[in-house]
Amino acid sequence: VKNSVIKLTPPLLSDDHIDQKISCIRPHRERIFNISREHKDGKTIFHNYGHGGAGWTFLFGCVNESMRQFQAAGIDKNKKICVVGAGCYGLLTAIELARAGYSVRIVAKETQNISSDKAAGFFFPRWRKSSSALEITEFTRLGLESYATYLDIIKGTHPFMKTGAQLLPAYYHPEIDPGFAPYIKHGLMSLPQETTIDFSNGKQYSALQYTTVFIHTNQSMALLKELRHSLGIGLDLQEISSFDDVEESIIFNCAGFGAKTLVPDARMIPVQGHLITLRNQPIESLQYMINTRETGIYTRNNLIYFAPKGQGVLGITFLRNQSDIHANTHEFERLLMRCRDFFGT
Ligand SMILES: Cc1cc2nc3c(=O)[nH]c(=O)nc-3n(C[C@H](O)[C@H](O)[C@H](O)COP(=O)(O)OP(=O)(O)OC[C@H]3O[C@@H](n4cnc5c(N)ncnc54)[C@H](O)[C@@H]3O)c2cc1C
Repeated sequence: VKNSVIKLTPPLLSDDHIDQKISCIRPHRERIFNISREHKDGKTIFHNYGHGGAGWTFLFGCVNESMRQFQAAGIDKNKKICVVGAGCYGLLTAIELARAGYSVRIVAKETQNISSDKAAGFFFPRWRKSSSALEITEFTRLGLESYATYLDIIKGTHPFMKTGAQLLPAYYHPEIDPGFAPYIKHGLMSLPQETTIDFSNGKQYSALQYTTVFIHTNQSMALLKELRHSLGIGLDLQEISSFDDVEESIIFNCAGFGAKTLVPDARMIPVQGHLITLRNQPIESLQYMINTRETGIYTRNNLIYFAPKGQGVLGITFLRNQSDIHANTHEFERLLMRCRDFFGT
């Protein structure tokens, strides 16, 4: 494909344009997320956690899969159900259950400023380096289902998600593999174009341009909360330390990283991420995504990304085994330095 030069407006990155410095913990699980059913001490627990840095990406496929396991279990319609967690997983699961005619409530430690709110909104369906061939098949199957659902939302044909996603150009470093090959093969995405992105300030880079889904995580969370409310799904603010703390015998475990304390799962690893939100941007000229890295030796700590969430968001770090959101504050300065260098602003 012929290489074309794409002129892009860069985000403004002087101190006046920096808003919040955000740290957050990804609910990473080695090899693959856990969607399964467990019987324990007279309770049936449907697990759906461990989606790491791609929880929004796999949301619809994974919640559908969990609902299929639930439907296959033939649970009586009169049984009361408790969903643990009010992130995108807990909310969507409770909404699906209520729409299927079940009586459901949510218990959650927190409902604000959780990972689901902080996520940037990339559709990034790459599996883990440690995933087995069978697990890669699962990532692909549920990722394709999710992507098709996001396309339905964009087309306006989804039964209840009327906003929350958009198609945008996404410029990837040629050596970063977002895992889009199956999406292209299934005709859901077009082949990437080789391009040169040019910020008209001397900064020019080779990139692969995809057109892909951008997830408006704020809009989606607001819509999910509204739907919970309109369906009359109760929410109790409570931190549980065991599934025995809730009276219902049917439980959905959508606790994100919190699942680690509820289930003995040695594969759950906290992965800290740093983001910087922007303000006072020419945001209508910034309708694109960037996912690249500083040149030099590839490590996961020299990544640069941009997405037009709100007035724009910059990322990102991946710090394994770090569950303290207050750790590594020096990463914000490093992130800002490499983004200023990359964008030339
Ligand atoms: C910096 C960063 C950037 C990201 N960017 C993207 C992206 O671009 N694209 C993408 O697809 N994904 C992204 N993600 C990943 C995504 O945010 C998560 O995978 C997703 O939000 C997980 O949703 P969840 O509902 O499982 O968990 P959460 O949103 O963490 O919600 C968990 C819920 O469970 C509750 N809970 C936990 N423990 C208990 C307990 N013991 N008792 C009661 N309640 C409990 C919490 O209070 C909360 O309500 C990003 C994550 C981070 C950290």
